[in-house]
Amino acid sequence: MSLKEYKKKRKFDKTPEPEAKKKKSSSKSFIFVIQKHDATNLHYDFRMEIDGVLKSWAVPKGPSVNPKEKRLAIETEDHPIDYADFEGIIPEGHYGAGTVMVWDKGTYKNTTEKDDKEIPAKKAYEKGHITFDLKGKKLKGGFALTRFREDKWLLVKEDDDYADARKKPVKSEPKSAKTGRTLKEIEKEEEKEDKDKKKKGKSKKKGKDKKDKKKEKKKKK
Ligand code: MN
Repeated sequence: MSLKEYKKKRKFDKTPEPEAKKKKSSSKSFIFVIQKHDATNLHYDFRMEIDGVLKSWAVPKGPSVNPKEKRLAIETEDHPIDYADFEGIIPEGHYGAGTVMVWDKGTYKNTTEKDDKEIPAKKAYEKGHITFDLKGKKLKGGFALTRFREDKWLLVKEDDDYADARKKPVKSEPKSAKTGRTLKEIEKEEEKEDKDKKKKGKSKKKGKDKKDKKKEKKKKK
Protein backbone atom coordinates (compact mmCIF):
# COMPACT_ATOMS: atom_id res chain seq x y z
CA MET A 1 0.00 0.00 0.00
CA SER A 2 1.60 3.21 -1.08
CA LEU A 3 0.77 6.85 -1.65
CA LYS A 4 2.93 7.20 -4.76
CA GLU A 5 -0.01 7.54 -7.10
CA TYR A 6 -1.73 10.03 -4.79
CA LYS A 7 1.44 12.13 -4.79
CA LYS A 8 1.95 11.90 -8.52
CA LYS A 9 -1.54 13.20 -9.27
CA ARG A 10 -1.31 16.35 -7.14
CA LYS A 11 0.66 19.56 -6.74
CA PHE A 12 0.62 20.37 -3.06
CA ASP A 13 1.41 24.04 -3.51
CA LYS A 14 -1.74 24.32 -5.65
CA THR A 15 -4.32 22.16 -3.88
CA PRO A 16 -5.49 22.44 -0.27
CA GLU A 17 -5.54 18.62 0.00
CA PRO A 18 -3.19 17.05 2.61
CA GLU A 19 0.27 15.89 1.61
CA ALA A 20 1.10 12.22 1.24
CA LYS A 21 2.15 10.91 4.62
CA LYS A 22 1.76 7.34 5.79
CA LYS A 23 0.54 7.16 9.34
CA LYS A 24 0.18 4.47 11.94
CA SER A 25 -3.15 4.45 13.65
CA SER A 26 -2.90 5.42 17.29
CA SER A 27 -5.96 3.50 18.39
CA LYS A 28 -7.38 0.06 17.94
CA SER A 29 -10.35 1.34 16.04
CA PHE A 30 -9.85 2.18 12.40
CA ILE A 31 -11.42 5.13 10.68
CA PHE A 32 -13.59 5.45 7.63
CA VAL A 33 -14.88 8.48 5.77
CA ILE A 34 -17.33 9.06 2.95
CA GLN A 35 -16.65 12.23 1.01
CA LYS A 36 -19.25 13.74 -1.26
CA HIS A 37 -17.28 14.99 -4.23
CA ASP A 38 -18.82 17.42 -6.68
CA ALA A 39 -16.35 16.81 -9.51
CA THR A 40 -17.16 16.31 -13.21
CA ASN A 41 -19.74 13.85 -11.93
CA LEU A 42 -21.07 14.03 -8.38
CA HIS A 43 -20.01 10.89 -6.52
CA TYR A 44 -19.21 9.60 -3.05
CA ASP A 45 -15.70 8.51 -2.13
CA PHE A 46 -15.72 5.70 0.38
CA ARG A 47 -12.41 5.41 2.23
CA MET A 48 -11.35 3.03 4.98
CA GLU A 49 -8.12 2.82 6.92
CA ILE A 50 -6.12 -0.29 6.07
CA ASP A 51 -2.41 -0.68 6.69
CA GLY A 52 -1.65 3.00 7.29
CA VAL A 53 -3.55 4.48 4.35
CA LEU A 54 -7.13 5.10 3.31
CA LYS A 55 -8.12 2.49 0.73
CA SER A 56 -10.52 4.34 -1.56
CA TRP A 57 -13.47 3.67 -3.83
CA ALA A 58 -15.59 6.08 -5.86
CA VAL A 59 -19.26 5.18 -5.44
CA PRO A 60 -21.24 6.98 -8.18
CA LYS A 61 -24.63 6.59 -6.50
CA GLY A 62 -23.43 6.75 -2.92
CA PRO A 63 -24.07 4.10 -0.26
CA SER A 64 -27.46 2.49 0.22
CA VAL A 65 -28.84 1.06 3.46
CA ASN A 66 -31.11 -1.30 1.53
CA PRO A 67 -29.41 -4.74 1.41
CA LYS A 68 -31.05 -5.35 -1.97
CA GLU A 69 -29.30 -2.40 -3.59
CA LYS A 70 -25.79 -3.21 -4.70
CA ARG A 71 -23.72 -0.12 -5.28
CA LEU A 72 -20.88 -0.02 -7.78
CA ALA A 73 -17.61 1.05 -6.14
CA ILE A 74 -14.63 1.78 -8.37
CA GLU A 75 -11.30 1.51 -6.61
CA THR A 76 -9.13 4.63 -6.78
CA GLU A 77 -5.67 5.45 -5.46
CA ASP A 78 -4.83 5.15 -1.75
CA HIS A 79 -5.19 8.38 0.20
CA PRO A 80 -3.33 9.52 3.34
CA ILE A 81 -5.16 9.10 6.66
CA ASP A 82 -5.27 12.90 7.08
CA TYR A 83 -7.50 13.08 4.04
CA ALA A 84 -10.44 11.97 6.18
CA ASP A 85 -10.69 15.52 7.55
CA PHE A 86 -10.44 17.26 4.21
CA GLU A 87 -13.38 19.44 3.27
CA GLY A 88 -12.86 22.19 0.74
CA ILE A 89 -12.26 23.01 -2.88
CA ILE A 90 -9.80 21.33 -5.22
CA PRO A 91 -8.97 24.14 -7.66
CA GLU A 92 -9.93 24.07 -11.32
CA GLY A 93 -7.46 22.45 -13.65
CA HIS A 94 -6.25 20.06 -10.94
CA TYR A 95 -6.90 16.39 -10.37
CA GLY A 96 -10.37 15.90 -8.89
CA ALA A 97 -11.27 19.58 -9.26
CA GLY A 98 -14.46 20.42 -7.38
CA THR A 99 -15.94 20.69 -3.91
CA VAL A 100 -15.34 17.98 -1.31
CA MET A 101 -17.59 17.43 1.73
CA VAL A 102 -17.08 15.07 4.65
CA TRP A 103 -20.48 13.40 4.26
CA ASP A 104 -19.96 10.77 6.94
CA LYS A 105 -17.13 9.84 9.24
CA GLY A 106 -16.43 7.44 12.06
CA THR A 107 -14.78 4.16 12.91
CA TYR A 108 -15.20 0.65 11.61
CA LYS A 109 -14.54 -2.84 12.86
CA ASN A 110 -13.38 -5.52 10.49
CA THR A 111 -15.75 -8.51 10.70
CA THR A 112 -14.35 -10.63 7.87
CA GLU A 113 -14.27 -14.29 8.86
CA LYS A 114 -13.61 -17.64 7.29
CA ASP A 115 -14.38 -20.89 9.13
CA ASP A 116 -14.95 -18.87 12.33
CA LYS A 117 -11.48 -17.35 12.06
CA GLU A 118 -10.99 -13.62 11.74
CA ILE A 119 -9.28 -12.53 8.54
CA PRO A 120 -7.21 -9.33 8.97
CA ALA A 121 -8.50 -6.33 7.03
CA LYS A 122 -5.42 -6.14 4.80
CA LYS A 123 -5.68 -9.78 3.80
CA ALA A 124 -9.44 -9.51 3.27
CA TYR A 125 -8.94 -6.48 1.04
CA GLU A 126 -6.25 -8.24 -0.98
CA LYS A 127 -8.53 -11.24 -1.45
CA GLY A 128 -11.29 -8.95 -2.68
CA HIS A 129 -13.91 -9.46 0.02
CA ILE A 130 -14.14 -7.54 3.26
CA THR A 131 -17.02 -7.17 5.70
CA PHE A 132 -17.11 -4.50 8.39
CA ASP A 133 -19.28 -2.72 10.93
CA LEU A 134 -19.54 1.04 10.52
CA LYS A 135 -19.98 3.41 13.41
CA GLY A 136 -20.54 6.67 11.60
CA LYS A 137 -22.78 9.65 12.18
CA LYS A 138 -25.09 8.55 9.38
CA LEU A 139 -24.19 5.00 8.47
CA LYS A 140 -24.16 2.21 11.02
CA GLY A 141 -23.96 -1.54 11.01
CA GLY A 142 -22.62 -4.15 8.63
CA PHE A 143 -21.48 -3.61 5.06
CA ALA A 144 -19.55 -5.69 2.56
CA LEU A 145 -17.21 -4.74 -0.24
CA THR A 146 -16.64 -7.41 -2.87
CA ARG A 147 -14.45 -7.21 -5.94
CA PHE A 148 -15.92 -8.64 -9.10
CA ARG A 149 -13.61 -7.36 -11.82
CA GLU A 150 -10.23 -5.60 -11.68
CA ASP A 151 -10.93 -2.28 -9.95
CA LYS A 152 -14.69 -2.81 -9.75
CA TRP A 153 -16.30 -3.72 -6.44
CA LEU A 154 -19.80 -3.82 -5.01
CA LEU A 155 -20.72 -2.08 -1.77
CA VAL A 156 -23.70 -3.74 -0.10
CA LYS A 157 -25.47 -3.22 3.22
CA GLU A 158 -25.77 -6.32 5.33
CA ASP A 159 -29.22 -7.31 6.51
CA ASP A 160 -29.06 -6.25 10.16
CA ASP A 161 -30.92 -3.91 12.55
CA TYR A 162 -29.60 -0.87 10.68
CA ALA A 163 -30.78 -2.04 7.27
CA ASP A 164 -33.80 -0.12 5.99
CA ALA A 165 -35.19 -0.35 2.48
CA ARG A 166 -37.12 2.93 2.86
CA LYS A 167 -34.27 5.11 4.04
CA LYS A 168 -32.19 7.01 1.54
CA PRO A 169 -29.52 8.76 3.60
CA VAL A 170 -27.78 10.18 0.53
CA LYS A 171 -30.96 12.17 -0.17
CA SER A 172 -32.37 12.75 3.32
CA GLU A 173 -29.05 13.71 4.93
CA PRO A 174 -27.20 15.79 2.36
CA LYS A 175 -25.12 17.93 4.73
CA SER A 176 -21.57 17.64 6.03
CA ALA A 177 -21.05 15.38 9.06
CA LYS A 178 -18.12 17.59 9.99
CA THR A 179 -19.46 21.13 9.65
CA GLY A 180 -23.17 20.79 8.89
CA ARG A 181 -22.69 22.68 5.63
CA THR A 182 -24.22 21.95 2.24
CA LEU A 183 -22.02 21.67 -0.85
CA LYS A 184 -23.05 25.19 -1.86
CA GLU A 185 -22.19 26.60 1.55
CA ILE A 186 -18.76 24.94 1.48
CA GLU A 187 -18.19 26.40 -1.98
CA LYS A 188 -19.17 29.93 -0.98
CA GLU A 189 -17.32 29.96 2.33
CA GLU A 190 -14.12 28.39 1.05
CA GLU A 191 -14.03 30.76 -1.90
CA LYS A 192 -14.45 33.71 0.45
CA GLU A 193 -11.73 32.37 2.75
CA ASP A 194 -9.46 31.98 -0.23
CA LYS A 195 -10.04 35.58 -1.28
CA ASP A 196 -9.45 36.81 2.27
CA LYS A 197 -6.20 34.85 2.44
CA LYS A 198 -5.06 36.33 -0.83
CA LYS A 199 -5.89 39.83 0.43
CA LYS A 200 -3.99 39.20 3.66
CA GLY A 201 -1.09 37.84 1.67
CA LYS A 202 -0.98 41.04 -0.33
CA SER A 203 -1.16 43.34 2.70
CA LYS A 204 1.56 41.31 4.39
CA LYS A 205 3.72 41.83 1.36
CA LYS A 206 3.05 45.55 1.50
CA GLY A 207 4.01 45.57 5.18
CA LYS A 208 7.22 43.83 4.36
CA ASP A 209 7.93 46.34 1.61
CA LYS A 210 7.59 49.19 4.09
CA LYS A 211 9.98 47.51 6.51
CA ASP A 212 12.43 46.93 3.73
CA LYS A 213 12.23 50.57 2.78
CA LYS A 214 12.85 51.58 6.38
CA LYS A 215 15.85 49.30 6.50
CA GLU A 216 17.11 50.86 3.31
CA LYS A 217 16.70 54.32 4.80
CA LYS A 218 18.62 53.29 7.88
CA LYS A 219 21.38 51.93 5.72
CA LYS A 220 21.56 55.18 3.81
CA LYS A 221 21.85 57.14 7.03
MN1 MN B 1 -13.61 11.66 -5.84
